[in-house]
Amino acid sequence: MSARPPPPSPPPASDRPPPPPGVEADYPLARLSTVRTGGPASHFARVHDPAQVAELLRWARAARQPVSVVGSGSNLLIADEGVAGLVIKLEGPLASIEREGLRLVCGGAARLPAVAARAAQLGLAGIEFGVNIPGTVGGAVRMNANAYGGQLAQVLEWVEVATHAGLSRRAPDELGFSYRSSNLGPGEVVVRASFALGERPSAEIKAVLADMRARRRAAQPSGIKTFGSTFKNPDDEGGRTAGMLLEAAGLRGLRIGAARFSPKHANFIENTGSASTADILALLHEGRRRVRERFGIELEPEVQLLGEVSFPWQESSNRPGP
Ligand SMILES: Cc1cc2nc3c(=O)[nH]c(=O)nc-3n(C[C@H](O)[C@H](O)[C@H](O)COP(=O)(O)OP(=O)(O)OC[C@H]3O[C@@H](n4cnc5c(N)ncnc54)[C@H](O)[C@@H]3O)c2cc1C
Repeated sequence: MSARPPPPSPPPASDRPPPPPGVEADYPLARLSTVRTGGPASHFARVHDPAQVAELLRWARAARQPVSVVGSGSNLLIADEGVAGLVIKLEGPLASIEREGLRLVCGGAARLPAVAARAAQLGLAGIEFGVNIPGTVGGAVRMNANAYGGQLAQVLEWVEVATHAGLSRRAPDELGFSYRSSNLGPGEVVVRASFALGERPSAEIKAVLADMRARRRAAQPSGIKTFGSTFKNPDDEGGRTAGMLLEAAGLRGLRIGAARFSPKHANFIENTGSASTADILALLHEGRRRVRERFGIELEPEVQLLGEVSFPWQESSNRPGP
């Protein structure tokens, strides 16, 4: 893999525009990720409205600070050294879920399980798959989240994206969706999304949600500190999932420091106490190595990195763009 160009160095402190009000320095990020690892952000802001996001992005551009967004942190691995740059978290009114006829218009910080539950209450069908995805609408769009065959793109009508240039709407076919990915870059923040749903009796949708929850409880560990699937499922002729390959390669239960592959689901890594991101990356490396040696398959991570950290098998470091 070729090395990414290094980010532009920030201008000297004396030339930098001061951060807008509400930007905090050295803000600890570990508690904003579901696996609870990683260091602080040099700049951090909680934002409540789309215009404020655009303003922060303009400041970051002028101050040449890289930008990243944290949703529910359910697919994130944050560098132990932290993040040099601006980290944004949407909240408050940006977590709203509003009905407009057969649509739900949601803020980027609305949580998918809450969106699925609200839709069920209102007798709106199509977003049931969100019930078990512990992320936000913005994170789900960025990651093209799905479950049980339900696809975000099937119900997504438009998203509103904030950039340093302001706000604009994009249709799903402009988002470059592919397996667990979209074309959204670090300086493009999903602040709202509209889902076009269908009518169905509320009781029937609630029964579907209950069934999905039960299936998930049976298949995956719950109540642990994890970021869900570690690796994407490979394009395997035999149809084997990443979990099957990891299990067959003997990774289930393997531990490094306080991190281990879950004894219940080999594609989940859990932080059993005070694991570091370095422990988790060492486990990813080992899992990938053993699967490659045994099956000749290169697993690709699903989890996203934040800050100055890279996967051990990549030479370049992961640097969010400006
Ligand atoms: C127990 C468990 C089960 C899971 N099950 C599933 C599943 O069934 N299906 C599935 O697809 N995923 C699953 N996941 C993974 C995860 O929940 C999804 O990828 C989710 O969409 C991530 O959303 P988030 O808000 O937590 O994003 P984060 O983890 O906070 O961020 C992920 C990426 O999205 C970006 N991002 C976050 N918010 C925004 C925004 N507003 N605008 C632009 N970019 C943004 C971040 O910068 C980062 O690059 C699971 C995770 C866990 C812990």
